[in-house]
Amino acid sequence: MSLIVQKFGGSSVANADRVFNVAKIVTDTYAQGHDVVVVVSAQGDTTDDLIAKGQEINPNASKRERDMLVAAGEQVSIALLAMAIEKLGYPVVSLLGWQAGFQTSSAHTSARIRRVVPNRIRKELDKKRIVVVAGFQGVSRYDDVTTLGRGGSDTSAVAIAAAMHADLCQIFTDVEGVYTADPRLVANARKLKDISYDEMLELATLGAQVLNNRSVEMAKKYNIELEVLSSLVRAPGTIVKEKSKMEKMLISGVAKDTDVARISVIGVPDEPGFAFKMFSKVSAKNINVDIILQSIGRDGKKDISFTVPADKVDEVKACLTDYVENIGAKDLLVSTDVAKISIVGAGMESHAGVATKMFEALYDAQINIQMIATSEIKVSVLINKKDADRAVTAIHEKFFEE
Ligand code: ASP
Ligand code: MG
Repeated sequence: MSLIVQKFGGSSVANADRVFNVAKIVTDTYAQGHDVVVVVSAQGDTTDDLIAKGQEINPNASKRERDMLVAAGEQVSIALLAMAIEKLGYPVVSLLGWQAGFQTSSAHTSARIRRVVPNRIRKELDKKRIVVVAGFQGVSRYDDVTTLGRGGSDTSAVAIAAAMHADLCQIFTDVEGVYTADPRLVANARKLKDISYDEMLELATLGAQVLNNRSVEMAKKYNIELEVLSSLVRAPGTIVKEKSKMEKMLISGVAKDTDVARISVIGVPDEPGFAFKMFSKVSAKNINVDIILQSIGRDGKKDISFTVPADKVDEVKACLTDYVENIGAKDLLVSTDVAKISIVGAGMESHAGVATKMFEALYDAQINIQMIATSEIKVSVLINKKDADRAVTAIHEKFFEE
């Protein structure tokens, strides 16, 4: 007998049929003699709908109240799933984040899990119950309900798996695993048998929608093997684990991120300290800056461009406008008409010419590159948003079909 954590995303529990489908998967696992802890997200678009409802009432509502609102989505889905499991005749209990022992920071809407104290979960498992836990939420030390940021249920699942030393952590979703590109976009995309934490982390961060990047970070830290698989098609998924005997591939995937914006500060004095001061302001707001490009100084001035998540544009503008004025820079330009396309692969570490091959694919497709960033295992380019899908297809073809 082993302890298995199974996580189901919003699309997997979107309606009554889907909820019963999940109940079936869970109870089948339980019937094989395993202890099962299930983590679920809110049904379908519930979280988006709740956010919209809040916006309607007060677009400037405090983050505490926003958390209180969206946490309701998961409360609904755990109760419904538990009811379905009861109906199938199995013992079950549903638990909210705080009941399941999720202690988090008090950074509402993007709280960090401090620890999971799974005493209650253990007690329920000892009573031979299936335990259904609300993903995405926890409680701060002030006893306030918190949420972990969008897509946070993956992290909830991995955190439980780590805290309870689970034997397996399965992340069920609406695709069959991790693909070399989005299969809805690229017909020849291949399902990967396995992928390393580092590659998965890059892919998740760079726009592959299949796993939340913080969950991968945590899985790596605690060495939790993950399986990403479909809740609708029963087939082996993709294993995310420490790099060992992986499929030998130059790159493991092409990712697209259209939720990105380019910020350019034009005419920054070409002297020490300006980049530091500018980015300190942005990072003080907890905003992740990605690709950074600085032009060579000319007439004592230079331009600095960088990318941020598209939904952070207003915050970035707010925190930089005064500064840009004070230092006498010429302009602060913002474009959301951009997309970031990336290739990721551990094979890059030992092979030359990988970036060139990507640029060649873009050249063949006559797509212009605005910015480039590289790391040991990834190359990202910023391009026009309208070219994004074509770029993914062209790059995928170059690496996987030639
Ligand atoms: N329901 C939350 C969201 O939509 C958490 C999740 O799905 O993981 O972001
Ligand atoms: Mg969701």
